[in-house]
Amino acid sequence: MNNFLSGKAAELKPYTAGAQPAGGGIIKLNTNENPYPPSPEAAKALSRFNAAKLRLYPRTDGGELKSAAAKINDVPNSHVFCGNGSDEVLSFAFYAFFEDAVVFPDITYSFYPVWADFYGINYKTVPLDEQFNIPVDLMLGGGIVIANPNAPTGIALKLNQIETVLKRNRDNVVIIDEAYAVFGAQSAAPLIEKYPNLLVVTTLSKSHGLAGLRVAYALGQPHLIDGLERVKDSFNSYPLDAIAQVTAAAALYDTGYCKNTALKIIAARERTAERLSGLGFKVLPSKANFLFVSHAKLSAIEIKAYLEKNKIYVRYFNKPRIDNFLRISIGTDGQMDTVIKILRECCEKQ
Ligand code: PMP
Repeated sequence: MNNFLSGKAAELKPYTAGAQPAGGGIIKLNTNENPYPPSPEAAKALSRFNAAKLRLYPRTDGGELKSAAAKINDVPNSHVFCGNGSDEVLSFAFYAFFEDAVVFPDITYSFYPVWADFYGINYKTVPLDEQFNIPVDLMLGGGIVIANPNAPTGIALKLNQIETVLKRNRDNVVIIDEAYAVFGAQSAAPLIEKYPNLLVVTTLSKSHGLAGLRVAYALGQPHLIDGLERVKDSFNSYPLDAIAQVTAAAALYDTGYCKNTALKIIAARERTAERLSGLGFKVLPSKANFLFVSHAKLSAIEIKAYLEKNKIYVRYFNKPRIDNFLRISIGTDGQMDTVIKILRECCEKQ
């Protein structure tokens, strides 16, 4: 019990991030990081950065990064908001646009209820169906958040399903969290001109191998972007430092590199899914850089422990309906070969 905490802080139920195990020889597949380094263009921008510039405050709006995001998405700068990771952008969006009964699936990114509680926003969860699909027709709210692909299932909605949600919630903001979209979902970004209630949030953490830089952006019509700026400027005017702005801009412009690494990860995912099915795993159809799997005979906890003994880290969620599943991020081909080899051993021991 900490007597210094305010009543509000004492009541918080913080999100628990995936562990960051230290030490050599580990295979870290528990936080959906990209196994490949960021674009060499990002590395060049970083090494060219003049430290003397750090004397000055950075641009408040993301500067070059905002222009890069606008350019590659073919929208004006006024349609882009830049932030310190999508966790920050999403939390600002909750504050800016939601008041009563924001709706999201029961199984989804577990930070959504944390932000709702933090800001005192009511929320309602809609159960995924038996196959872990989002029941699109039930997504009716005082605001909607959908991760597409969903996490931790990896299952994606099609663009026409997103459009159904947008049409049925015209008076409320619909946030599409596209943290993993580059790995196979259709982006809703092309719909922002048509739907004034659509905010698309995307991050460079997974798609560009830049989880350590903390950079994300949102796309939407200017009234939504202004709403986000309003919240940001009531909290921290400079969420993105000068180094992050130029490094992330260089990474964004290298669209070919991002596409190629995503294709490698997609190929590894499909190969891994097939091999896991061969070992008796149920594998949900993923469009993300992870697989959500369970085994008919072995418990998720047993498998996780066996993997950890072999220095392989995956993610487990002790929650109803998914407490016998593991989420395995897709690593390099070599890492996935090792994972399959160890899992085969684990299954044969039974
Ligand atoms: N959305 C989803 C669905 C995620 O899984 C994550 C990563 N934990 C995020 C947003 C946040 O990513 P970041 O803050 O690194 O941009």
